[in-house]
Amino acid sequence: MIQQLTIPTPYAVGDVNAFLVKGDALSLFDAGPRTPEALEAIKTGLKEFGYSVKDIEQVILTHHHPDHSGWADGFPNAELYGHEYNNLWLTRDPEFIKFHDQFYMERFKEQGVPEKALGIVGKMKRAADFMAERPLDHLLREGDALPGHPGWTVLETLGHAQSHLSFWNPERHELIGGDLLLEKVSSNPLVEPPKSPEYPRPKTMLQYNASLKRLLELPVAKVFSGHGMPVTDVHKLIEKRLQKQHERAMKVYEMLNDGPHSVFELTVQLFPAAYKRELGLTLSETLGQMDYLMDLSLIVRQTDNQGIHRYEQA
Ligand SMILES: [Zn+2]
Repeated sequence: MIQQLTIPTPYAVGDVNAFLVKGDALSLFDAGPRTPEALEAIKTGLKEFGYSVKDIEQVILTHHHPDHSGWADGFPNAELYGHEYNNLWLTRDPEFIKFHDQFYMERFKEQGVPEKALGIVGKMKRAADFMAERPLDHLLREGDALPGHPGWTVLETLGHAQSHLSFWNPERHELIGGDLLLEKVSSNPLVEPPKSPEYPRPKTMLQYNASLKRLLELPVAKVFSGHGMPVTDVHKLIEKRLQKQHERAMKVYEMLNDGPHSVFELTVQLFPAAYKRELGLTLSETLGQMDYLMDLSLIVRQTDNQGIHRYEQA
């Protein structure tokens, strides 16, 4: 049985889910944001099923985002499992944090973000305030059998996060999917730094689409999602999400009718109000569309003598 715990968050997305699964081990998939209200909701939820935080033997993270990883250190008898990328955040790896700022600074300059707006780079790390602070005990990788849960395997489903895993049970046709596919909203393939500077910027929109398409190849009947109710019409919802995203990209393509533009210019046009509040998120969305259109060879990119990237129709 997979039991859903619904947990409040301070974020626009609303509640987040955690899933309690009793196998050979008692595991909690995801751990809410690091707020007192969330911890209260976790305790209340566990109690309803006859457990306390001390009974949890494994905490398994779908990804590192604060609404999912907050209380990963709140279970005194649990071992913590997840993708290696979680550790960069869970340990506040100083080299990674330094690289993180440098990564966004370089990307935002390329995207044509004006000098006076670059101050947000330092604030982007605030997400860590709602994350747990402890390293993983065990790393999970693509294809691993999930410890304590015979029949479940680990899928690496990057895109929404560079730490994103899903858990698949081919006999039950069930997936614990984190934020891969959500009932009510499309999931945002956030631009995130690679694990270290030797790696190129991950093209998160392309990763995300590939992760969704991968589910189309599997007979998934039910996805237990990070937000909202489980998804049952899985393949149909995926087709809808992919179609909508294509339409959004084509709208951006039309905006290039009048010549080349930077990601920042397009973002201001696409999100005239939201870009001021949510610059990081909105730039990320636009850059995703650029990666998508480049991948289809519909647009090309040039770099000017200031290092700013401009995109135009091919
Ligand atoms: Zn989430």
